[in-house]
Amino acid sequence: MRNIIMILVALGLGTKRHWHIFLAIIAGAVAGFYLPLDPANPSVGHEVLSVVGQLFIRMIAMLAVPLIMSSLLIGMSSLGDGRHVGKMGVRMITLFIGFMLISGVMAATITYFAQPGSNVSLDIAHLDIRGLTEEHPEVVSSAEDRTLTGLIMNLVPKNPFQALAQGNLVPIIVFTLLFGAATSFIGETARPLVAFFEAVFAVTMKIVDWVMLFSVPGVFALTFVAAAQGGLYTFTGMMPYVACIITGLLLLTLVVFPVFLWVMARVNFMDLYGAISEALLVAFGTASSSATLPVSLACMERRAGVSNRIASFVLPTGATMNMNGTTIFEVTSVMFLAQLYGIPLNLETIITIIFLAIVASIGAAGVPSAGLITMAVILNGIGRFEPQQVAVGLSLLWAVDRILDMARTVVNVIDDCVVATIIAADEGELNRDMLASGEGWEEIV
Ligand code: ASP
Repeated sequence: MRNIIMILVALGLGTKRHWHIFLAIIAGAVAGFYLPLDPANPSVGHEVLSVVGQLFIRMIAMLAVPLIMSSLLIGMSSLGDGRHVGKMGVRMITLFIGFMLISGVMAATITYFAQPGSNVSLDIAHLDIRGLTEEHPEVVSSAEDRTLTGLIMNLVPKNPFQALAQGNLVPIIVFTLLFGAATSFIGETARPLVAFFEAVFAVTMKIVDWVMLFSVPGVFALTFVAAAQGGLYTFTGMMPYVACIITGLLLLTLVVFPVFLWVMARVNFMDLYGAISEALLVAFGTASSSATLPVSLACMERRAGVSNRIASFVLPTGATMNMNGTTIFEVTSVMFLAQLYGIPLNLETIITIIFLAIVASIGAAGVPSAGLITMAVILNGIGRFEPQQVAVGLSLLWAVDRILDMARTVVNVIDDCVVATIIAADEGELNRDMLASGEGWEEIV
C-alpha cells in the first residue's frame, strides 16, 4: 500500500499534465464510489462537480464543429488528384468497416458463449431509470431517428447550415467531404477558401490549448460524477455483462489492433499507444470521441509522426463514423437483453444484429451515450422486442453506461489512430523515427 501511495505521489509531482489527468481519474473514481449520489436528493458537492464536468465537456464540444470542418477541408484539399483521394478514401472506409465487422463478430461470439443475460435476476426497481428518459427523451418518444431509413437519411443534410447550427456531425462530415473534394478539383480559385479554413484550424487549436488547462479539474469532476452515479449495487447485478464488453474491448486493443498494425504497417502497437496516451486519457475522462479529436490530432502529428495530410483526413472522419468500441457495446448489449428477456436468437438474427450495429455505430455521434441511443435502431430493427422491453432495457443499460461509455470511447479513439497509422505507412507519410524513439515528442495537454 505504501509503495502504491509513493508511486502515486511521484506521478502527481511529475510535471507532465497527463499524469495529473491520470491521477484525477483515479481520485475521481475513488471519491465517487465513496460518496454515491442519491438522485432524489443530490448534495451541493455533487451538483458543483457535475457543473464543473459539464462545463469542461461543453468547452471542448464547442470546438468540434469548427475543428472538424476546417481540418477535414484542409485534409481533403491537400490530398492531391481526385483518383488518388478516391483510392485512399476507399482504403479508409474498407478499414473502418473491416474493423467494425471483426468487432461485431468477436462481441457476438463472446456474448453467445458467456451468456451474461441468462440466469440473472435484476431488481429493476433499484435502478435510476429516470436518468435516461430525462436526458434523452427521444428514446421513448419519437421513433423517427430510430429506424434504419431514418439513420440513412440523416447522412445527407437537407440544409448544411442547419446541420452546423445543430452540431449534427455525421451530415456535416458528408457535406465537408464533398466540399473538400470539390475544392481540390477547382484548384487555384478555391485557394483563398482553403487559406481561410487553415486560419480557422490554427485559431481553434489555440483555444484547445487553453481549454486543456482545465483538463485536470474537468476530468476529476466527470469521473467523480460517473462513479457516484454508478453505485455499487448496479455493478454487481450487471457484472457478467460489463465483463463481456470489457473482454471484447481488451481483445481488440491488445490482440487485433497489434496484429494488424504489425502486419500492415510494421508498427509496434506500444509505440503508437504511447504516442496517443494523452488522447486516451482525455477520451476516458470525457467519453466523447469528438471532444477528444483536437488532442488525438495533435498526438498523431506531433508524436506519432503521421503527416498532417493523412491525420486531418482520417481522424475527423473516424471520430464520427468509425466506432469499434461502440459496435462491441451494441452487439453485446442487444444479445444480453435478448438473453435477459428469454428471446431466442438464431444465426440469421445474430448476423442482422451485427450488420445493424455497424450502421448504428456509423450513425452515432462522438458524444457521451450516443451508442446507447442509436442502439434503439437494432432493438427495433430485429423486430423481436416489445416496445416496453425496448424502453426498460435501454433504461437498465443506462444505469451502468457511463463507465462503459468511457471505456468504449478509448477504443473508438484508438481505432481511428490505428487506421491513420496504417494509411500513413502505406502512403510513405509516417515518420518512423519520431514514432519509435519518442524523441522530440511534445507535451500535448
Ligand atoms: N461516447 C462514444 C464516443 O464518443 C460513442 C458511444 O456512445 O458509443 O465515441
